[in-house]
Amino acid sequence: MCVCRCVVMDTEDPSPLRRFVVAKRLITSIFDQLLEFMKDGSAFVDEAWRGADLGQVAVEEQSLEMQSCATKLSTIREVLIRRHMKVAFFGRTSNGKSTVINAMLRDRVLPSGIGHTTNCFLRVEGTDGDEAYLTTEASNERRSVSTVNQLAHALHMDPSLDSGSLVKVFWPKSRCALLRDDLVLMDSPGTDVTLELDTWIDRFCLDADVFVLVGNAESTLMNTEKLFFHKVSERISKPNIFILHNRWDASVTEPDYIEEVRKQHLDRCVSFLAEELRVVGLDEAPGRIFFVSAKEVLSARMQRVQGMPETGETGGALAEGFHERLREFQMFERTFEEFISQSAVKTKFEQHTVRAWQITEAVRAVMDAINIASADRKICCLEEREEQRDRLDFVRGQINRLTDNVKERITALTSDVTAQVAVALSNQIRCLPVLVDEFRAEFNPTQETLQLYKTKLQQFVGQRLVDGLSHGCSVVVLRDVTEAQRQMIDNVHPLLSQSVQEQLSVPSTSFQLTYDLGLAALGADFQENIEFQFSLGWTALVTRFLGATDAKRALSSSDLRVQEGCSFKDEMVVSMAAGLVSVTSRATMTVLVIGGVVWRSVGWRLIALSLSLYGLVYLYERLTWTDVSRERTLKQQFVQHAARRLRAVIPATSSACGQQVYKELSAMFSRLSQRVDLSEAELEGNIRQLSFRIQRLENIQRRSKAFRNKATELETQLEAFSVQYLQ
Ligand code: GDP
Repeated sequence: MCVCRCVVMDTEDPSPLRRFVVAKRLITSIFDQLLEFMKDGSAFVDEAWRGADLGQVAVEEQSLEMQSCATKLSTIREVLIRRHMKVAFFGRTSNGKSTVINAMLRDRVLPSGIGHTTNCFLRVEGTDGDEAYLTTEASNERRSVSTVNQLAHALHMDPSLDSGSLVKVFWPKSRCALLRDDLVLMDSPGTDVTLELDTWIDRFCLDADVFVLVGNAESTLMNTEKLFFHKVSERISKPNIFILHNRWDASVTEPDYIEEVRKQHLDRCVSFLAEELRVVGLDEAPGRIFFVSAKEVLSARMQRVQGMPETGETGGALAEGFHERLREFQMFERTFEEFISQSAVKTKFEQHTVRAWQITEAVRAVMDAINIASADRKICCLEEREEQRDRLDFVRGQINRLTDNVKERITALTSDVTAQVAVALSNQIRCLPVLVDEFRAEFNPTQETLQLYKTKLQQFVGQRLVDGLSHGCSVVVLRDVTEAQRQMIDNVHPLLSQSVQEQLSVPSTSFQLTYDLGLAALGADFQENIEFQFSLGWTALVTRFLGATDAKRALSSSDLRVQEGCSFKDEMVVSMAAGLVSVTSRATMTVLVIGGVVWRSVGWRLIALSLSLYGLVYLYERLTWTDVSRERTLKQQFVQHAARRLRAVIPATSSACGQQVYKELSAMFSRLSQRVDLSEAELEGNIRQLSFRIQRLENIQRRSKAFRNKATELETQLEAFSVQYLQ
């Protein structure tokens, strides 16, 4: 908006100097935007660098480049703000340099007519305040110089002002239109008073946009003046030089020769500019040479300012030829303004515009690099995320399948182990007689020793059973379990992440089957019967006939009753036995009767013989009923008892072993599943991180694109500026 308004003002404002002012405002505004842009851009690049999403090295370089660009820009901007158009006046003392400056400023700013008061340079520039003041190189103190006399006095009285030093005169802009337009005018001590031309040029002239040589209409160009401009054109390529032949009013006294004199001056100056200095062509050179009277112009302008009768700019005093001289002075001013504005815009802004252009190019390159890098990284991240997702799906699918397989495998192994243990235990039961027979301990039928014997027997049998089972079963089971565990690990291993794989331990070899045979109870309810029993005795016969249990019942009269809980078959057997016993009791008398009958028929000898034989058998058995027989009997009874007991616990024991295997393998698989869960969580975490990173990279990409577009927009502005002002 501001820029547009300035441009409009420019077209409305007739002064060519406004062109510089507007151009300065425009380029400064572009630099302001550039600086703001660089600030944001630098912060963005820094942020991208700190975020480490792009890989640090390249972006760090870019960050440094952005910072250096920003520093350069801010320096250039500072220089730009101080930029102004500068015109330097040279010529011999008393040629009227101060008068020309005053005439241009339309005020008596510099003292004149007293020779050059000092040998210093007087630089006149505008100030926004209402007070005129001066500063010197030696001191920045503001010394008030509200009148030209004060200034002359100040310059004259200051002993610190050396030859060739600079005095800045600040004149209120409100009192002078030229100063409002950023024009600085430099009055020099006079080319005739010093030989330090080189130093002057280097210190005060290199940034001058226009040089005005103020000559004297009465004399021709001096060698010192020519030498000065030769030196200037050595340092500055094609300096803009104007030559003013001042005091042209003095020529009026010789009207007959005036045109001839003018032509002579013109030819010499054209030759000097076009042929000696070669700063302009022959056809352009006359346009740089003017014949004026600064004194007349100044006095006419002063009268007007002071409210004297209006006679245009001509004022009151009208010398002959005044109007022509005034017009020529005005033409000089107009031409000078056009030249200085044109030249200053070019020399003061062109280089900076190019620099700004280079910086925007560099920034655009940085943003392009970031854009490309972030796009590349994004693609990598997208691919990596895809891989991780595939892997997660694979792990999930595999672990589900594996879980089903492992369950089946564990169930099968559990059944196997149950069966194996059952078979092994049955084998052990069959081997019980041998086992028990191997037991050796002191046997004594006394109650205490017997109890100790039984305890030891029970421990021995228990130990041998467990050893037997271990030998026949545990080794195989352990091998199967270890194999199953190893398989589980092998199957799960590829599903785990690297870090989790490292934590994975080898399968435990500490697993041992434990067999709960209930041996403690086995001994507790074992009741041996090692009393002597005649093999042909009544009880033994009944026992042989009915079996041990039923015989007991049958032999006990109270037991002859039908007992609760007995089966029908048992009842039948017992009732038969009871009947038999009751029959035999009644038959005792019958036997005796029959015995009497037999006695009578076969004779007493046979009976006596039979009885003797029966007695002998009894006697024999009675005599051979030793501790050894008792021990053997006890062992037999123990074998029967233990076998019965163990047969009863086969299903429970084998199933318990199966359960142990089941638990061991389930626990193992559960631990492995937890590891897989950990790996899954790791993968999910990675996917999440990658998604965040992709978002960040997209953001970086978007922002770098926006910065790039902004750089392009600034370049467009610079191009427009260049087209409007620099071409
Ligand atoms: P400077 O030393 O080059 O700055 O010259 P000044 O400006 O101080 O002028 C020296 C003298 O020349 C002063 O007395 C002026 O009044 C006088 N002077 C300047 N310009 C003209 C002019 O155009 N015509 C006449 N007749 N005198 C002039």
